[in-house]
Amino acid sequence: MRTQLEALEKISRQLEPVAGKREAVRKKVIDYAENFINHIESIKAFELKSESNSGLLSFPIAEDPGDIENVISLLKNYVDHTGLNPASGGHLGYIPGGGIYYSALGDYLADVFNRYAGVYFAGPGAVQMENMLIQWMAGFIGYPATAAGNLTSGGSIANLMGVVCARDASQIKARDFERSVIYLSAQVHHSVEKAIRIAGLKECIIRYVPLDERYRMKADDLERMIVLDKTNRLLPFLVVASAGTTDTGAIDPLDEIGYTAKKHELWYHIDAAYGGFFKLTAEGHEKLKGIEQSDTLVIDPHKSLFLPYGSGVLLAKSSNQLNASHHYFANYMQDAVQATGEISPADISPELTKHFRGLRMWLPLKLLGVKPFRACLEEKLLLAKYFYEEVQQLGFEVGPAPQLSVVTYRYVPKTGDADAFNKQLLEAVQKDGRVFISSTVLDGKFTLRAAIVAFRTHLSTIDLLLSVLKENVRLLNAN
Ligand SMILES: *Cc1c(COP(=O)(O)O)cnc(C)c1O
Repeated sequence: MRTQLEALEKISRQLEPVAGKREAVRKKVIDYAENFINHIESIKAFELKSESNSGLLSFPIAEDPGDIENVISLLKNYVDHTGLNPASGGHLGYIPGGGIYYSALGDYLADVFNRYAGVYFAGPGAVQMENMLIQWMAGFIGYPATAAGNLTSGGSIANLMGVVCARDASQIKARDFERSVIYLSAQVHHSVEKAIRIAGLKECIIRYVPLDERYRMKADDLERMIVLDKTNRLLPFLVVASAGTTDTGAIDPLDEIGYTAKKHELWYHIDAAYGGFFKLTAEGHEKLKGIEQSDTLVIDPHKSLFLPYGSGVLLAKSSNQLNASHHYFANYMQDAVQATGEISPADISPELTKHFRGLRMWLPLKLLGVKPFRACLEEKLLLAKYFYEEVQQLGFEVGPAPQLSVVTYRYVPKTGDADAFNKQLLEAVQKDGRVFISSTVLDGKFTLRAAIVAFRTHLSTIDLLLSVLKENVRLLNAN
């Protein structure tokens, strides 16, 4: 047995590369990363994948080791530039963020230490870090000191947690589903509707509250609908508002909805996945008034705090419901139960073992301070106003003035179908690839969007977008 163990040990020790080997591989990886960042301005924001190759699939996982140069060349050829480049400032589609460098270093350390961030007993420092970040966000949102929350993988999971809290707080049972009512706006992010389904609530009645001309939920109509539903012996229990919709950046009337929710005892969930961090700016602070009235709230650091993907947050005004909905006990966990006053993430979220997610957020905030984040968000708000003005100078029709940093616009040609024209224009911009924009449908019309959120997006990027639009409108009109 000993000889067998020795033989196995020899092979399994390959999992721990020696210092020299670590250095050699690390150097190659760092060089590769540095090269990427140093050339980020010239790397396209979007590149269509060529149909002619099967990409990574031609290089299956094998028994034998590969070398780092080969592996990097696979990444270069098949991964790091095809499709969308979310690290580019030219990414102006969907809701971008960028991915700040110090987060990568935070992840590096988190993965080397591999601290257990789920339970205080196992990783007191890691848990404290997470809870401290939660308190920081709860603070600028305007939640009380009793607030709690969880670092999630993204906004979708955070929305799911909020919906689960609402379900459990209202104590609806399966027999009540068909009488229970949820109020949404037609502009709600689809992850909320997905969360409703996953939470087992798809048989509930879902009412879409009408929108005003700026795509915001009409609070008066919400109240009218709740009253009517109550009269009809239905059970209104949840309203979801958006603090910055994905489509247009619209902010629902958070204060009025909060008032109505409280009056009729509905759970109030706000999706601020995109808009939440704008609360750090003076303008955003004003515009997001009422956000603190919510019971639960989603805010995505991988959007408006510019972290790399994999960071969402669920905040709750009180830990009670989060705890009631997620807490479990098992015999093999008995050593981990401690009266510390510090909340363990595992007790208030679906995850047990989790990535040491706090470090990717804590490290950049500690190294940079909050100031540059605030300035970057202010810059984005102003760039959106700038683009809104300038794109009209090019002859585009625009949607409502931007409430945050999303602008909607479309070109209406003198002759021909406007939807088809804008579709062609979008394709032309994507083919050019220096900037990336996405589209949506508003009031039945094919509409272009510019979502100005990424931290690497600056004045020159928006000027580039304007010139790409101008040039391609000219070409399409000449056809
Ligand atoms: C992006 C987004 C979500 C979903 O968050 P993910 O992090 O992509 O899971 C939810 N709501 C809004 C408003 C968003 O913009």
